[in-house]
Amino acid sequence: MAGRRVETIAVGHGYDPARHNGAAKPPVYMSSTFVYRDAAHARSAHEGYAAGRAPDSGDAEGYIYARLDHPNLQMLQARMAALDGAEACAAFGSGMAAVATALLSLVRPGDSVLHTSPLYGGTDGLLTGVMAPELGVRPVAIADALDEGSVREAAAGALAHGPLAAVWIETPSNPLAGLADIALIARVAREAAAGQARPPVVIVDNTFLGPTLQAPLRHGADLCMTSLTKYAGGHSDLLGGAISGATALVEPLRKRRTLMGTHLDPHGSWLLLRSIETMGLRVERAGQNAATVARFLAAHPKVSRVTWAGFADPASPAGALLRRQCDGAGPTFAFDVAGGEASCFRLLDALRVFRLAVSLGGTESLICHPATTTHFSVPPERRAAAGVTDGTIRISVGIEHEADLIEDLAQALEKA
Ligand SMILES: *Cc1c(COP(=O)(O)O)cnc(C)c1O
Repeated sequence: MAGRRVETIAVGHGYDPARHNGAAKPPVYMSSTFVYRDAAHARSAHEGYAAGRAPDSGDAEGYIYARLDHPNLQMLQARMAALDGAEACAAFGSGMAAVATALLSLVRPGDSVLHTSPLYGGTDGLLTGVMAPELGVRPVAIADALDEGSVREAAAGALAHGPLAAVWIETPSNPLAGLADIALIARVAREAAAGQARPPVVIVDNTFLGPTLQAPLRHGADLCMTSLTKYAGGHSDLLGGAISGATALVEPLRKRRTLMGTHLDPHGSWLLLRSIETMGLRVERAGQNAATVARFLAAHPKVSRVTWAGFADPASPAGALLRRQCDGAGPTFAFDVAGGEASCFRLLDALRVFRLAVSLGGTESLICHPATTTHFSVPPERRAAAGVTDGTIRISVGIEHEADLIEDLAQALEKA
């Protein structure tokens, strides 16, 4: 697919009708196990798996068991790898299955992890609630992910504890859509850990923009993680995750996925192949709606802050980074309602088009109050330090007509 554009890759890459009875669209292979032709075939299938060869490639001998690999998983992984501009991809049963399989594979007891802040609640919970207390891992937050001195200081703090095993960059961040400079953080972290036997692995959580708006591997990341539940799935009806990168890094994660049982099932893989075809259109339309909604909110007297990245002054570091690193500001951001939690709750309860739910990236507009939902388990001090207040509301703008979204917000803000 060298040279093809993401819109073209999204539609057909990874599926060859000639190998599936001419079916124009992928059949779904609902089978937990695969029958060998004979005992010698069984042995060579296992040899191929151990050697990391794709089961449907010319030199491999076929599928074994669906937790190891299955045809719909292969198709999805080929498509996501091409979309991310990567050599290989591993798909997982959810975004958190991908996050957990990666972090628990890359990070050993006593290691440190450098990360942007705030983080997705699940990633934060895994690092600070499980890996720190149970494995002696030290997660160190970067205070300002656009400032070299700040990254350097955090990297030094991480290295003072133990080897820097992983750098976790979430950009734009959840829920505030703050940007982090991937190239800067990757360079500074690698320089700081230059003396280590194991170089740190730089991972970007690309969930908020997805492959049509941001290509982290092109900016210096080693691995790109995406919750497929969000824009790739796009219809709030499935869970999935993916990690793309060089085969040398992805193949060990596929092997670890087999042991942890964190693979994505055939039906989920098939739904994703279908949804990814329209991802670019959906993200583009939702992004246009988001720009309109963000401008409406910014001009409203009851709204004290709007974190949409598109508002960054083009001359500021964030504005320059947006142009350099992203192809758009994306459809998900946050805003603050003057009056705190009580006003937020009145607003949320008055909405009729927006649905009150966690998650993002669906065709429908979703809205939630992070402090009491997605980021409830993050201690209030760390929430405040990351800029998430009791008046913060996260909004995932969908593909409805923008006028209906504005009218809904306008009538609800009157009651806030
Ligand atoms: C939703 C999300 C995840 C986790 O994905 P799931 O599919 O819900 O497990 C990780 N990171 C970000 C930024 C997310 O929004």
